[in-house]
Amino acid sequence: MSDEPGTIVVIEDDPNIADLVDMYLRRDGFRVIQASTAKAGLEAVAREHPRLVVLDIGLPDRMDGLEVCRTLRATSDVPVVILTARDAEVDRILGLELGADDYVTKPFSPRELVARVRAILRRSEPSARSGAGTLRIGDVEVDLDRHEIRLAGDVVAFTTREFDLLACLADNEGLVLSRRQLLDGVWGADWVGDDRTVDVHVRQLRKKLGGALPLTTVWGVGYRLG
Ligand code: CA
Repeated sequence: MSDEPGTIVVIEDDPNIADLVDMYLRRDGFRVIQASTAKAGLEAVAREHPRLVVLDIGLPDRMDGLEVCRTLRATSDVPVVILTARDAEVDRILGLELGADDYVTKPFSPRELVARVRAILRRSEPSARSGAGTLRIGDVEVDLDRHEIRLAGDVVAFTTREFDLLACLADNEGLVLSRRQLLDGVWGADWVGDDRTVDVHVRQLRKKLGGALPLTTVWGVGYRLG
């Protein structure tokens, strides 16, 4: 990762939470742009080209955070961390399906949020994998240097997590990996989500690569590629 932490756009309508997140991220060296509506948030992302977006799901506009996530994903691969209410599991699952990279449940520790932001940025930095080469599984290529997935030579858009998940599976071609192993390998051992997160991302991989991806579900265990 470059020494410059860069800009983060925080889309959150509750000024207390926004200021708290802002303060902790600044303390960690980030430049922070706050937006209190979906519209202002999307404009800020288009204008600032941030390295990451912190996105509250409960926004006051007609467009909620999930819609913002969907819109962002259609135009950019910027990492997104969503903030959700503790009892809103459906939001978390939907958010991950729409391409969010991680989520933090309110009420949350700002330190934990900053740690997750850091972890995502570390993983999404292509230069960290420079010289790592390309993994090939049939018609699918996982280019670790360019952080790119190609299907029969054409680039397919993936989120950071989806990329990492496919890279992890491809790196262990022919082996059965449990959901726990995938969580540890892709999300990190300290990640506190449940196994369903893996299933949600696997579904996205299958949707995007279809029959070209020789990915088998091993019932009661996990997944095997190749
Ligand atoms: Ca809110």
